[in-house]
Amino acid sequence: MNVRQMINEKGGEVVTCGPETSVKEAAVSLAEHRIGAVVVTRNKRIEGILSERDIVAAVASQGAGALDKSVTAFMTRRVVTCRLNHSTDELMEMMTNERFRHLPVEEDGHLIGIVSIGDVVKRRIAEVQREADSIREYVTS
Ligand code: AMP
Repeated sequence: MNVRQMINEKGGEVVTCGPETSVKEAAVSLAEHRIGAVVVTRNKRIEGILSERDIVAAVASQGAGALDKSVTAFMTRRVVTCRLNHSTDELMEMMTNERFRHLPVEEDGHLIGIVSIGDVVKRRIAEVQREADSIREYVTS
């Protein structure tokens, strides 16, 4: 399976916020959407990514005052993205090597979706299950 199939299946909705959004507002958005990261955009261009881990680190180092600061103070600016032709194996490798759990999908400079480690693992387990079923069928027939 590749990213194109995953986006077709799950849709291309991405929860974003502007650079002037406060960390508190971003945390509320994460909770409301039950997600782990928000992509920070300006004029549809990716400026950064803020994950729940960044918020925990911000509060741990600066206390509750961090919540009133803008997301730009704590987001990661060098965002790694993936493309529609990346496979689930490639996504797992990227996430494992870079130690993060979210990959925005970009084509021609446009943000067209996001995949999380949960999305990847879910599809990979289904693939492995299908492979096991066909081997079992082959062996028993
Ligand atoms: P996560 O595991 O996705 O919650 O994120 C762990 C750390 O990696 C946080 O500092 C995020 O801002 C950062 N991060 C998450 N996704 C990406 C990405 N696609 N590119 C760059 N940094 C990221």
